[in-house]
Amino acid sequence: MADSGYVTRLAPSPTGALHLGNARTFLLNWLRARSKGGRILLRLEDLDHPRVKPERVEQVYADLRWLGLEWDGEALVQSRRLVVYQAEFVRLLKQHRLYPCSCSRADIQAAQSAPNLGEDMVYPNTCRGRYGTAAAVVNTSGNRAWRFNLGVTRHVEYNDVFLGAQEVDLSRSSGDFVVAREEEGIIKVAYQLACVVDDHATGITEVVRADDLVNSTFRQLELARALGYTSPEYLHLPLVVGADGRRLAKRHGDSRISVLRRKGVSPERLLGWLGESCGLCTRTEAVSLELLLERFALDCIPKNKVVVTAEDLKYLGF
Ligand code: GLU
Repeated sequence: MADSGYVTRLAPSPTGALHLGNARTFLLNWLRARSKGGRILLRLEDLDHPRVKPERVEQVYADLRWLGLEWDGEALVQSRRLVVYQAEFVRLLKQHRLYPCSCSRADIQAAQSAPNLGEDMVYPNTCRGRYGTAAAVVNTSGNRAWRFNLGVTRHVEYNDVFLGAQEVDLSRSSGDFVVAREEEGIIKVAYQLACVVDDHATGITEVVRADDLVNSTFRQLELARALGYTSPEYLHLPLVVGADGRRLAKRHGDSRISVLRRKGVSPERLLGWLGESCGLCTRTEAVSLELLLERFALDCIPKNKVVVTAEDLKYLGF
């Protein structure tokens, strides 16, 4: 196995089927890793239980293999690591960085004074300071969220490998954010914290993902800092959108990779289209992963969002 010290990961959520947008990000993530002579791990982000189905997990594996995006080693499955996340949750709790919050969505919405900058609602830190150290006691009677106390931190900056310098005022983009849900006294760590813990535990040196997650990066940098971790580099790629400019979704038409696979479309057809969208080839060439890897360079990737039209979907065989 190649080992240049570079380590990245594919982190699909098996809550839905992989679609064209995921395929493009994963392809670029894979090309980046291989061009660096690095390792690429697979992590199943399956903490969102009710929506995770075993057949969807199998589908993720099959879709990635069909595209030729092989990963290194065993897949890491988040639902098998709850104890690890809980231990890090307790570490933050002991540092008084967490507090419980029973505010409903409606409460938070009602308290919004400024228009929301990000996709998530901005939490006005209503419950911060409401509890003393007794907050450390889990509540066996009800359900509530646990939030990360940003303290005096407002501005967070980092240098994105693809986007360049990034900066946000977290008090205006998220506020104290949720790191876990408590249900009947059981702590269920959520995406932001699980992601940071796993990136650290698996030695990820560079996170490659779509730019709808830049907002999460700022939060993850703060969590990593509180936990004493060295953060990886972050590389955010332009999002794939529908003709209306919104993130690719069902309403834009079926773009699930499994559909192409079942219809007997060749992976090369999809690779050609994806490669063209990344500035690496024309879709009419005989395209293979090897060819894309030979030509891959970050500079080739257009900076703007990738728009998928109905004609594109038809061309691909949907
Ligand atoms: N599981 C997330 C997704 O499918 C990706 C999270 C990440 O890369 O950190 O959107």
